[in-house]
Amino acid sequence: MLVEVAASGAVDNLVLRWKGAAWPIREIAPGRYEGLIGVDLEDPEGPAPLFAEGFRGNARLLAETVVVVSPRKFAVQELTLPKGMAEFDNATLARIGAEAAELSRRLSRVTPPRWRTPFLPPVEEYRPANFGARRVINGDPRMPHAGVDIRLPAGTPVRAIADGRVAFAGEQFFGGRSVVIDHGGGVFSVYYHLKEFSVVEGQEISRGDRVGSVGATGRATGPHLHFGVRVPGGRVDPTRLFALPAR
Ligand SMILES: [Zn+2]
Repeated sequence: MLVEVAASGAVDNLVLRWKGAAWPIREIAPGRYEGLIGVDLEDPEGPAPLFAEGFRGNARLLAETVVVVSPRKFAVQELTLPKGMAEFDNATLARIGAEAAELSRRLSRVTPPRWRTPFLPPVEEYRPANFGARRVINGDPRMPHAGVDIRLPAGTPVRAIADGRVAFAGEQFFGGRSVVIDHGGGVFSVYYHLKEFSVVEGQEISRGDRVGSVGATGRATGPHLHFGVRVPGGRVDPTRLFALPAR
């Protein structure tokens, strides 16, 4: 959701308070501010309070509204994978755990907002599938699928959906060759299973810049792009971003 805040007069340190955390917001015109929040794919349905908070001198200014989270049904996807792709020895489990911890550390950094609408789909032929699928692999329930899969020939160019900075570019057990871009304000985009990537960590990126190309590295049964988005509030359906109005 795009959240717009209007203020009469100057406001300092304006933030959105959503799901127990404070998120920076961007001034788009004098007295008008914009932020992006989301509902995680595992959040419960029901009302959730959203606050805009700022200061004028020592006075705390607060505006409140209520977001009503409605239910959404996700597909259940039963997959049969060779044992080597679904059962792991202790060394591999340690690697998976370390990679997940490192990634969540990077995803928890909040920098000033740099994203802008409209977001650009990561590939020219954007045909998303599997968002939120509850996965059952060889009979065992696993983590829900936090992104979309886009089946495309290996080598298809992948591009950045918005301006930002490369927060991760490297090799992961599940993701294979992986790139994560920090768009600021708690917004990140994630690109997995790349054949190769053409960016380095810390690099400044503009919307539309080439990130790499579609591949089948890591745990993938064939060439496709796994694409995910993280916004304040959690892992959201990335396709929603492309429907946001342009400024
Ligand atoms: Zn995927």
